[in-house]
Amino acid sequence: TARWNQTCWRPDMKLVVLSTNPKLYSTRRLVESGKERGHETIILNHKRCYMNITSMRPSIHYKGEAVTGVDAIIPRIGASISFYGTAVVRQFEMMGVYSVNESVAITRSRDKLRASQLLARKGIGLPVTGFAHSPDDTEDLLNFVGGAPVVIKLLEGTQGVGVVLGETRKAAESVIEAFRGLNANFMVQEFIKEAGGTDIRCFVIGDKVVAAMKRTGKEGEFRSNLHRGGTAELVRITPEERSTAVRSARVMGLNVAGVDLLRSNHGPVVMEVNSSPGLEGIERATGKDVAGLVVQFIEKNARPGRTRSRGKG
Ligand code: ADP
Ligand code: MG
Repeated sequence: TARWNQTCWRPDMKLVVLSTNPKLYSTRRLVESGKERGHETIILNHKRCYMNITSMRPSIHYKGEAVTGVDAIIPRIGASISFYGTAVVRQFEMMGVYSVNESVAITRSRDKLRASQLLARKGIGLPVTGFAHSPDDTEDLLNFVGGAPVVIKLLEGTQGVGVVLGETRKAAESVIEAFRGLNANFMVQEFIKEAGGTDIRCFVIGDKVVAAMKRTGKEGEFRSNLHRGGTAELVRITPEERSTAVRSARVMGLNVAGVDLLRSNHGPVVMEVNSSPGLEGIERATGKDVAGLVVQFIEKNARPGRTRSRGKG
């Protein structure tokens, strides 16, 4: 239709924010910004979206009704519901709906090991990281990340849960043994001590870092997560940090991403690339209208069927 041929601002999109909680700051801000910019903006709880997976006319239903006429979705999929949430995003893609972050990109970023391998493949700086299956290889695994202290992390942890500092070799071995006993997948990482419990969150939209903050863990805590009681402040990042963040988001295939960096002796190293980065901390720390920038990005880029994977996942 005609409106898709316009390259300028379109005031009449129908936007869907996929979120399980309308009260969350990020959800509220995205809805508010969408409406402010003239778009019909609604929240759908992805846990309540169900789908008809047929090849002729794939559809999504919500509380008894078919979901139609959607121009773009903004997925805000929590880590605990990645599997179902990405299936819903994929279904929207199959219907030709534009998703600001594609399902396959979300899936890639959720697995810390897979994400590290993809980033390493493109030459992005990472802490030295190891992964092993057998207890027989623990000794060598600890050796090649430089011995204790080491960081041991669950592959699917988030908000700092499942990230442990093994200060001594003995402690590291015990944690590894415990994780193995629980059949949990984990990786072992060089501890970037010089970061001093601080990391840099770069909020990337498209090919730009639109806001950045420095997060510092509370006294005696090496994890800087705000959920662990860390504090945030505005920071100026270097051109190298800026390009590392933008490249990392691009490698993951994310248009909107929170790229976390540590300042190491050997330059910026990427901790993780978050596909549903929180807005509260970054907007408060920087005073920027990040939600509005996400909506502007969608205005410029949303077209029917314009996702690279189109549900191929
Ligand atoms: P999560 O997904 O749970 O946030 P992260 O990998 O981001 O897991 O780790 C949480 C925090 O722990 C990071 O923000 C950082 O402050 C700290 N951290 C993680 N890995 C390392 C490391 N290798 N060296 C130093 N600090 C680390
Ligand atoms: Mg993190």
